[in-house]
Amino acid sequence: MKILVPVKRVVDYNIKPRVKTDGSGVETEGIKMSMNPFDEIAVEEAVRLKEKGVATEVVAVSIGVQQAQDTLRTAMAMGADRSILVLSEENLEPLGIAKLLKVLVAREKPGMVILGKQAIDDDMNATGQMLAGLLGWGQGTFAGKVDMVAGQVHVSREIDGGTQEISLRLPAVITADLRLNEPRYASLPNIMKARKKPLETLDVGSLGVDVASRLSIVSVTAPPSRSAGVRVGSVSELVEHLRYEQKVI
Ligand code: AMP
Repeated sequence: MKILVPVKRVVDYNIKPRVKTDGSGVETEGIKMSMNPFDEIAVEEAVRLKEKGVATEVVAVSIGVQQAQDTLRTAMAMGADRSILVLSEENLEPLGIAKLLKVLVAREKPGMVILGKQAIDDDMNATGQMLAGLLGWGQGTFAGKVDMVAGQVHVSREIDGGTQEISLRLPAVITADLRLNEPRYASLPNIMKARKKPLETLDVGSLGVDVASRLSIVSVTAPPSRSAGVRVGSVSELVEHLRYEQKVI
């Protein structure tokens, strides 16, 4: 079985994002970019399934600018066998990404697609669900555990207040939650090996998919900065402050 793992290049999670001065989005110029952390977890899970003999090949795919090659090389250094880069200068919406992934699924015929549960830049949390819908496949979202049991994939889903156990027929779409695993670091020898692994580049226009935006961003604003705290001497002073100054009780 082949596993397809979509990986997105996003602003590194250690960087505090800065809103562009024209309010059109977040500054990415000259900013450190990395693989979306949930996608690292997805790659790790796919590689583990290959190591267990469940999968035979792991293919990473990214849709984005030329530099997304680096993200794919990281996926290959973690253990993916080859990669596909779909070149697009536009920041596409989940529906457009899901439609492109559907075309790649038709080409590659994987038994499983493992995505991150969400990309930390736009926090959409939609691509995996849309892909499953477009394909008519079952979906195991927010996966905290993935096991193959008698030819079906058993997924423990992280839900409010607990876990939900579901069983899916293959092919299926899975989205990785934080507790699914701890991704490995790519070792230097594996980084070197990844340079020689195949990376195919396709132009977004060649896939015959309507990726036009359905949404327009009205504005992006930074959260208001927090004002300094006030130290009060007693409970009655606190109540007075909350009632008469903050007017919250
Ligand atoms: P989102 O729905 O945007 O929060 O993204 C959910 C998941 O879809 C991500 O964790 C990735 O696995 C995948 N994904 C989203 N955008 C892209 C992209 N441009 N290239 C590859 N995978 C993507």
